[in-house]
This record gives sequence, C-alpha cells and structure tokens, in this order.
Amino acid sequence: MTTLQHCQTLDANDPLRTLREHFQLPPDTIYLDGNSLGVIPAAAPARIADVVTREWGTDLIQSWNKNGWFSLPQRVGDRIARLIGAGAGEVVATDTTSINLYKVLSAALNIAAEDRPAARRIVSERSNFPTDLYIAEALCKERGLELVLVEPEGIAAALTDDVAVLMLTHVNYRTGAMHDMPAVTAAAHAAGALMVWDLAHSAGAVPVDLNGANADFAVGCGYKYLNGGPGAPAFVWVNPRHTDRCWQPLAGWWGHAAPFAFTPDYQPAPGITRYQCGTQPIISLSALECGLDVFTAAETLGGMAALRAKSLALTDLFIQLVQERCAGHGLGLATPLAHSQRGSQVCLTKDEGAYAIVQALIARGVVGDFRAGDSSTGSGRTGSTDILRFGFTPLYIGFEDVWNAVEHLKQVLETGEWQRPEFNQKHAVT
Ligand SMILES: *Cc1c(COP(=O)(O)O)cnc(C)c1O
Repeated sequence: MTTLQHCQTLDANDPLRTLREHFQLPPDTIYLDGNSLGVIPAAAPARIADVVTREWGTDLIQSWNKNGWFSLPQRVGDRIARLIGAGAGEVVATDTTSINLYKVLSAALNIAAEDRPAARRIVSERSNFPTDLYIAEALCKERGLELVLVEPEGIAAALTDDVAVLMLTHVNYRTGAMHDMPAVTAAAHAAGALMVWDLAHSAGAVPVDLNGANADFAVGCGYKYLNGGPGAPAFVWVNPRHTDRCWQPLAGWWGHAAPFAFTPDYQPAPGITRYQCGTQPIISLSALECGLDVFTAAETLGGMAALRAKSLALTDLFIQLVQERCAGHGLGLATPLAHSQRGSQVCLTKDEGAYAIVQALIARGVVGDFRAGDSSTGSGRTGSTDILRFGFTPLYIGFEDVWNAVEHLKQVLETGEWQRPEFNQKHAVT
C-alpha cells in the first residue's frame, strides 16, 4: 500500500518542486482544474499593473513601438512554439481557439479544394470538444461539405479518399485519452487528407512535436496549461509549406503585409502574421507571457520531458491511490492506463452522483470538475457516462497533494457527504 510518507518523499526528491513558487496558489486548495483554467503566475499581477499604469497610462500610443506591443503576438508565439515542436516565426498568439480553428480549417479546405476537388468531407471525433465540431459544422454548411463524426477506433476506416481534412484534438477533454500524433498524421496523409490538430489540452501539458509529426495546421489554448488567465489569447501554427499558399478567411488589417500603408486592397503578410485579424489584447497577452516565463524557468530543470515524467508519475499515483483507497464505491476509470495514450488528467466515471461528489470535493478545497455524459454520443467509450475530471499540472501540483485529494474523495464517498442537497444544485458553469 502507498503511504503518505512515500508521497512526501516523492515531493522531496522532485526536481521540479521549486516551480510551485512561480504561482499564487490559493490557501487550503488543491487545484486539479488547471486543464480548464490555469493558476495565476505570481509575476502576473505586477506585470499587468505595469502594462496598465506605465505602458498604457503614461506611454499611451507610443507603446505600440516603444513597449513592443505591436510584435507581442509573434514574440509570445515564438515562446509557445518551443513547447509544441514548431519553429520560430511559425506561431502567433491571437484570438480564441474557436476563431483560430475557423481560420485553419478554412485554409485547409481551400488547399484541399485546389489540390483534390473531389474530397468533400471533414472527419472528426464525435467526442471532440463541441466548439471544434460546431466550427466544422458551420464551415460544412457554408461550403456544402459533409462532416463525418466517428469514434476514436473508427478514424482509420473513415479515412477514405474523399476526405479533405482530418481534424482532431490531441488529448480528449473528457477522457484525457491522447492520440499518437505522428501515426495519425501519417494515416491522414496516406489517405490524401490534411491534418488539423487542436492542442488545447496538450500545449504545456505533454511534449508535442508538430514539425516532427509533419502536421499541417494546429491551434491551442492559452488559459489552460499555459496559465495565461481567463480568455487569454489562443495560438495558431501553420506548417511553413502551407502558410503563404492561401489567405485565411478573416483577412483583417493586422494580417496585412503593410497595415500602416492603409491600402484599400488586401495583401496578406508573409508567414504566420497573416493569421492575425485585428488589434490584439495587449493586457491579456502580457499575462500569458508571465505563464510562459514559468516554462522558461522549467527549461533549466529538464523542460517538457521532465514535466511529462512528473505528470505521468502524478496521474499514476492518483489512479493507484483511488484503486487502493476508494474501492467499492462504483468508480471507474475513463483515462487510458498506457502512458503513450494518456494526457495530463485523470477522469473517473460514476453512474450516479458524479456532479455532487465534485461539488463536495470543491467545498473541501479539492477543485476538479464534472463533465456530463451525453446519451447522444452513443456507444463511445465513455460518451454516455458522467465524469469526474482531475487535471494534474506538474508545474504546481505535488505528490502529497495527490494523497490529500484522494483522502478527501475517500471521505466524501464513505460518509455519503455528497448526497447533501447543497451539493446537488447545478450551477451555470460546470
Ligand atoms: C478549451 C477548448 C477550446 C476552447 O475554445 P475557446 O474558443 O477558447 O472557447 C477549444 N477546443 C478544445 C479542444 C478545448 O479543450
């Protein structure tokens, strides 16, 4: 049996333990929701105050040049690039994941329409994050294409020669299951399709090598594992072989080759800059930069490889402790046991009471979240089962935290505390 002392020893020997000091963690809280909204970096409040009071307050419009505001999306993009196997100048931090997906999916469809006009399908996973599916659905409607949704095990069979684009999220938001990026990308290419990856639950969580996998397009999120703050800009990557080949559909002035020439016609900027649309949220971008500073600090401690090793150790420990200490309460595991198929979260299933258990845990300071089962998702692995979702961010979660989280879960289950009425009332945001 694993003991609390063992967990404390793991913390003492953890080479990444000092990274926690880079965050402002709320007291008496074990925050296992960094996969939904990351924790505030300790440097962010002062940085944001400086941008507001000095840069905006005093330097005003000169800040676009003097304080580097205008090139901030590219600078932040270059730092994200290091985490996802992209080159400098290949990533821009801008807009939201949903908007960036609209841009890259449109561009991919434009390229496919030129190269393979008979390919008129987008394939994705039924259990993909809904906004991804909605954006794809809207584009299919606009262009008279077909959106084909399959279960993960049906992807290979769905890659027929009429597929224009395979669009997948690397780590599934509900289950934490991770795709083999190089293998799936190769399968898409073998069928003639372009590959679009959503890295919302991957960037800063698991090692990603977009160029190594020879992917075509990618988008991802700034406010999850990158700790950029609520509504932080997302990012977009385009393989350099495609970047200058076509416009993206939101051809705004920030994507123009010479925005301050104010010409009436559009000339796309070379490179990833054309994936910008309009004026960027400088305050939010500055906060995101603070999140990325922590990854720079992590580089000297082993970088993403060390973060991945710790993440797997944390999720392994959580799974093991739940099995050892919470048996007999009807909990199942939705997250794959194989390391190669697991992101940085663990999802437990429960037929009854999943929402209330999460609420009871939150009242005890253990913050995870709940994702409802959807009967329309059919026979998918876990599509119809309610899920208790726990994200493990190796930057600030330790092994003793894992022990304590499971101890609280055990108590909530054993005492039946979750059955109290106040834990069974649903809020707008779950
Ligand atoms: C979180 C998440 C998003 C969020 O999109 P927004 O446009 O930032 O709201 C999109 N896709 C996936 C897969 C996500 O997990």
